[in-house]
Amino acid sequence: MPTHHHDVIVVGGGAIGLAAAVAAARRGLGVLVLEQFALLHERGSSSGAERQWRLQYSQEDLARLTVAALPMWAELEEAAGRRLVHRTGSLWFGDTTTATNEGQVTAAVDVLDRVGLPYEWLSARQIEDRYRFAGLPSSYEGFIQPDGGMVDVRATLWVLHEQARALGVEFRDHTRVHELEPDDDGVTVHTGHDRHRAGHVVVTAGAFTGPLLEPLGVRFDVELYEMTTTYFRALDPGFDYPTWFAFQPPTEDDTNLFYGFGRLPWAAGDLVRVSPDFEVGEFHDAYEAGYTANPVHLSRTAEYVAAHLPSLDPTPVRPGSCLIALPKDPDRQFYFGRPPGAERVVVHGAGWAFKYVPLLGRACVDLVVDGRTEHDLSRFAF
Ligand SMILES: Cc1cc2nc3c(=O)[nH]c(=O)nc-3n(C[C@H](O)[C@H](O)[C@H](O)COP(=O)(O)OP(=O)(O)OC[C@H]3O[C@@H](n4cnc5c(N)ncnc54)[C@H](O)[C@@H]3O)c2cc1C
Repeated sequence: MPTHHHDVIVVGGGAIGLAAAVAAARRGLGVLVLEQFALLHERGSSSGAERQWRLQYSQEDLARLTVAALPMWAELEEAAGRRLVHRTGSLWFGDTTTATNEGQVTAAVDVLDRVGLPYEWLSARQIEDRYRFAGLPSSYEGFIQPDGGMVDVRATLWVLHEQARALGVEFRDHTRVHELEPDDDGVTVHTGHDRHRAGHVVVTAGAFTGPLLEPLGVRFDVELYEMTTTYFRALDPGFDYPTWFAFQPPTEDDTNLFYGFGRLPWAAGDLVRVSPDFEVGEFHDAYEAGYTANPVHLSRTAEYVAAHLPSLDPTPVRPGSCLIALPKDPDRQFYFGRPPGAERVVVHGAGWAFKYVPLLGRACVDLVVDGRTEHDLSRFAF
């Protein structure tokens, strides 16, 4: 079996793998990206059109990390020749004491104060009047943070892929990595047909990371979900929503959390996404994902829209799902670093990480080249 040599092999051509490939090529390294499906496919976590961009977090380091990612997004926007982060505002509201995997309203406000970021505190009535919500419990409160908004997923993937190609990054799609064999000098990467050798491997395999790390004796302690996503038709062309997240106490059956967007600023159309953030229906093998919307979650979302979003037609349009791995420890957000005993392997995996794409790609390569990164990501280590 022939062995192919590279400075760095990136396992996984999702958003963060592409960002890592660009960062490595920029530092003069010869890079190969191995992707198990077609390039820019829709079966990973970087699928769909939009992601929320927000600066508010219950944990100060994550808020500061988002701020640190901003200039990197600006660079990417310059390369793309178009806006990728659209500041339509980010509205958080609901039961302010409910703690969730997404955070908590009052804790996030404390962090906004500490970091010195602007927001406006709002009552339920103000949220209803200004943002056309209806039927909110009068005890609900929240805030609008004007710099939040949404990220254009497809354009981000496209520009990263273009940049990587222009920098000479090699791609092999439909090539699944089955095993990583690290030693003192590098890593042997086994695919079905081939054997590759690299000085370092960056694993950005999203929800599929576990099976790659397990043989190395490393635990990727996550829960896997298929999150239902769907759109609704906006009824009033003169009105648009900011991105929003509703914090509510859980029901017996689900986490009772919903979030949504306005219209896509980069595309004509009247569809806006509203989705449930239900961490229920955990499964254990990412390869068993069905990629369909959960009908119960879909009807719960339609009910939420009918009850609280009178400017939308409550009939779901284009339902789908997105695969996500979330760390079992909700304070952790994601895994990042070199697994113990595998010094030539760098991993990023799990979490709500699209907003950090350029930063995490670069940080992976900082670890490869410099052995350290300027961002304090130590609490996300293995
Ligand atoms: C419904 C939903 C909503 C979200 N909302 C937000 C949000 O609002 N804000 C936010 O910041 N983030 C959000 N996220 C999270 C964000 O989308 C992800 O963090 C990000 O897309 C992860 O990118 P990635 O490159 O790590 O993973 P992926 O895009 O999954 O890429 C991993 C790639 O690795 C490949 N791969 C895996 N194993 C192998 C192997 N063995 N061999 C070869 N290739 C392999 C996969 O095929 C895949 O292409 C959301 C995610 C979902 C699902």
